[in-house]
Amino acid sequence: MKKGMAGRRGIGDSAEIESLIAQDGCPACNACVQGLSRYSFWFFNQSYAEGSAVGQYVRNWGFCIRHTAMMASAGPVWQKSAIYGWIIRNQLPGLKRLAGSLRRRAPHYVNRRMARGRMRKTVDAVAPTGACVFCEHEEQTAHDCISELLEAVSEEKGRSIYEKSSGLCMRHFFLMLDRFCEPAYARRISVLVDLQIARLEELGASIEEFFRKSDYRRSDEPKGEEQTAWSRAASRFVGRLDG
Ligand SMILES: [Zn+2]
Ligand SMILES: [Zn+2]
Repeated sequence: MKKGMAGRRGIGDSAEIESLIAQDGCPACNACVQGLSRYSFWFFNQSYAEGSAVGQYVRNWGFCIRHTAMMASAGPVWQKSAIYGWIIRNQLPGLKRLAGSLRRRAPHYVNRRMARGRMRKTVDAVAPTGACVFCEHEEQTAHDCISELLEAVSEEKGRSIYEKSSGLCMRHFFLMLDRFCEPAYARRISVLVDLQIARLEELGASIEEFFRKSDYRRSDEPKGEEQTAWSRAASRFVGRLDG
């Protein structure tokens, strides 16, 4: 088990992972939301000015849409101004080189291929690369959480808590399959796959119930939670969006 890594993200003991599993919703999403809150505090107070972080958000032209929205509602103005000031200052020269190459007269046909190659290079030099720093942090947190989750379900107590839980959203379920799909994890993964099937079957049945009650001959039956089954299905597929 990657205790060191997990500890760094704040998921270091069985009590914490059991608490995450027992909470409503996907445990990896819940770990990401809690981890992001801690990370963004640290980011705006320190790492926003550190070379590696600066390089990453400059190359990425900022952050993804979701985390830019998060920054819009949180984070200190001085730091956010510095961040966008650095991005603009560092990326403008590349854009000016692109502008210069676009203004040059097109060379004759024989050299057109070379010219296209050169132009492609100047475009590539300004295109966003790498990942959003917050997304990258979330992915590591989710990975650590899933690692702890697989450890927890290898024991009776953790398995019993997990079997009563909401389970993973499909996004983190596929991350789990992608990262941990190896024979040593097969029995633990099967616990997670079985729960995923059970939760999807429940949702599918609830959606069928919605259509059954939509029949005019049953219009006098009281409406229930089948009316919002689509919404729970949507959450099941993507997880929490408030991270
Ligand atoms: Zn999730
Ligand atoms: Zn992001």
